[in-house]
Amino acid sequence: MKISIMTLFPEMCNSVLSESIIGRAREKGIIEIEAVNIRDYTTDKHNNVDDATYGGGMGMLMQAQPIYDCYKAISEKSKSDKPHLIYMSPQGKTLTQQRVKELSELDEIVILCGHYEGVDERVLEEIVDEEISVGDYVLTGGELPALMLADAVARMIDGVLPNDEAKSLESHYDGLLEYPQYTRPFEWHGKEVPEVLISGHHENIDKWRRQQSLKRTFERRPDMLEKAELTKKDIEYLETLKSEE
Ligand code: SAM
Repeated sequence: MKISIMTLFPEMCNSVLSESIIGRAREKGIIEIEAVNIRDYTTDKHNNVDDATYGGGMGMLMQAQPIYDCYKAISEKSKSDKPHLIYMSPQGKTLTQQRVKELSELDEIVILCGHYEGVDERVLEEIVDEEISVGDYVLTGGELPALMLADAVARMIDGVLPNDEAKSLESHYDGLLEYPQYTRPFEWHGKEVPEVLISGHHENIDKWRRQQSLKRTFERRPDMLEKAELTKKDIEYLETLKSEE
């Protein structure tokens, strides 16, 4: 898969995406990620990419031309006629693990990072396929949201994580939060690891983990249970939790 990030701050993106798991996956060629500098495409003689907003207001707005030409240059190198373009925006749909999974099935995505007051609406109308938000708050730029999206999508690609099975056990993958986890030492600050985890009895461990996962979701994010895939046993366990309230 290829992810192109259109940004005014490519170094900010590269420094994060060169580290750790994603950095190693890029080095091995499992995933291709490039940060493309929108400023390289401006036709302004002073190299500007933003201007004041029509109608007044304090901030500056990113202009349509450099963004459009940057996207055109990425599209020309692409196998697809119109690589899927996502604009990171607080006005977009909130990112979910489900959307991450779907995006990871595409061959290529392009992510546009806004800055200042945002982006001229006309270029968004013309080239953007979807707007994604990372939550109901406002950041100074789209780089951190784009990095979050790129990281979340990249880790869904086979071979990126050291253990591919791990991702299917994590929070949100199957609509539940993950169970609590422990590592050595067995006792820390007077607190011991739950006995079942050292029993070696895999069936009991799986059952305990499933119940902890249901309990956590019930306590912290009951809204998620409405959409989660639950077995008859899960529903029975949730009924006992409700009756204990
Ligand atoms: N004026 C815009 C508004 O009120 O909708 C906010 C602009 S914000 C200061 C600058 C850029 O940061 C946006 O263009 C977007 O790319 C990014 N951004 C800020 N908050 C975001 C969020 N919650 N999710 C995704 N992107 C965000």
